[in-house]
Amino acid sequence: MYFRRRARADREFREAQQEGFAVLQRLAQEPSPFGSAQAEVPAAPAGSDAAAHAPDFPPADLRAPSRQDVDGFMMRWVQPLVIDGQVRTCPQCGDYRDWIVFCMRDDSVWLRCRAGHETKEPGLDAAWYNRNSGPVDRYHPTLEEGLRHLGH
Ligand SMILES: [Zn+2]
Repeated sequence: MYFRRRARADREFREAQQEGFAVLQRLAQEPSPFGSAQAEVPAAPAGSDAAAHAPDFPPADLRAPSRQDVDGFMMRWVQPLVIDGQVRTCPQCGDYRDWIVFCMRDDSVWLRCRAGHETKEPGLDAAWYNRNSGPVDRYHPTLEEGLRHLGH
């Protein structure tokens, strides 16, 4: 489960994709010491700026995002969360279960209780999150949609 709050990451991804394509084009134009080996590199149409106008492929919905593409990952954690032998409670309302756990791009982990209080959890990190979360199966363009999907 992951989410994204800005459209910017999408643009950055497309720009990176285009840069990668441009590199491929340059490689295709360089003389190869292996002769026919370069036939496997897809050549761009001559004289066109196809890279700048290439349609998104595969469509954004079908791409598995990399960590850099999204603002964070999130999952629901219904049971009490025990860290170093202690049950975590929300510092604001005392709730102790049914969390949304966030793992942000900077590898920090945040807990959000049902009332929407968000607390950074220094006892957890991205490695913990990755060990305990399922495979990323769904993308939400906004944090709110992700929360709704998770029942919060
Ligand atoms: Zn709370």
